Amino acid sequence: MSQELNGFAALGINALLLEAIAAAGYEEPSPIQEQAIPVILGGHDMIGQAQTGTGKTAAFALPILNQIDPSRREPQALILAPTRELALQVATAFESYSTRMPTLNVVAVYGGAPMGPQLKAIRQGAQVIVATPGRLVDHLTRNPSLLSTIRFSVLDEADEMLKLGFMDDLEVIFEAMPEERQSVLFSATLPHSIRAIAERHLRNPQHIKIAAKTQTVARIDQAQLMVHADQKIPAVLRLLEVEEFDALIAFVRTKQATLDLASALEAKGYKAAALNGDIAQNQRERVIECLKDGRLDIVVATDVAARGLDVARITHVFNVDMPYD
Ligand code: AMP
Repeated sequence: MSQELNGFAALGINALLLEAIAAAGYEEPSPIQEQAIPVILGGHDMIGQAQTGTGKTAAFALPILNQIDPSRREPQALILAPTRELALQVATAFESYSTRMPTLNVVAVYGGAPMGPQLKAIRQGAQVIVATPGRLVDHLTRNPSLLSTIRFSVLDEADEMLKLGFMDDLEVIFEAMPEERQSVLFSATLPHSIRAIAERHLRNPQHIKIAAKTQTVARIDQAQLMVHADQKIPAVLRLLEVEEFDALIAFVRTKQATLDLASALEAKGYKAAALNGDIAQNQRERVIECLKDGRLDIVVATDVAARGLDVARITHVFNVDMPYD
C-alpha cells in the first residue's frame, strides 16, 4: 500500500475499505472527503454543499460502509438519488468500495425496470438500497416496513430532487424510516426549500461546503473541451498534433490513468513518463529533472505526485480528468 493511502487511514477508514480504494487507484482523499468522512464516522448528521465531480459519493459511501454490519442481512443504508443514472452510478460506487466485504450487497431501485428482481434483492438481505424516490414509494406501498431497519440515510443532489418534483415522495420515505438514524444531505445549492427539509429531518447537522470558486490567472489562456470519457486519450493525441508545445504536464486522477496515458503517448513517439504516488521519491525527482532538461517532454501525473512542481519549460497543462480545485 502506498504511503498516500494514509490519508484515508488517518480519517478512520478500515483496512478492507482501504484495500478497495487502493484497487480503485485513489491516492488521497479529495477535499470533501477529508471534511465529510470524520463527521459521518463521528455519527453526526451532515449537510454537504458540493457538486458532482468533487468525490462526494465516496465522501458518504466510505464512512457508511465503515459503519454497516455486513453480518446483518437487512437494509441498513438508504441512498436517494434523483435519476436512474445517478442511482446506478452510486450503486456501482458502493459495489466497488465493498469488494472486500463479501457479505455486503447493494440493490439499485429505480423505475422503468421490473419490480421483481429489486424485491428479490431486498428480500435476500441487501444492506444498501440506492433508490429513486418514485419507485421506492411503490415498494413502500407494498411493504410499509421496508425501511424500518435503516440506520443511515443520504439525500443526494437534493436540489435536483426538488426540481424533479419529488418533494411529496421524500416526505413519505422519511416518515417510513426510524427517527434515530443518521442523515446526510448533499446539494449543490441550498435554497430555502432544501433548508426546510434539513430542518424537519436532520438533527443538529454539521455543514460542510466545498467552494466552487473560479480563479484564473490572466496570463494563462484557458480552454475546455467536452469529450466522452473513453475518448479522452484520442483527444489528447489529436490536440498534441495541432498544438505547438515545449514541455507539457497532463493531470489525471488515478495511478492507472497516468500509466495508460503515458504509454499511449510513448507509442506515438512522444518522450513521456508517468508520475504517481507509487513511484519512489528519488525516481520522481529524476522524472522532473528529465522534464527540465528535455530528455522528457510530457509528464502524466496525479496531483499528489506533482505537488509543488516548478519547471520553466512547461508551456501547456492538460487537466485530462477534472481537477478537484
Ligand atoms: P463524484 O463527485 O462522487 O461523482 O466522483 C467523481 C469521480 O471522482 C468518480 O469517478 C470517482 O471514482 C472519482 N474519485 C472520487 N474520489 C477520488 C479520490 N480520492 N481519488 C481519485 N478519484 C476519486
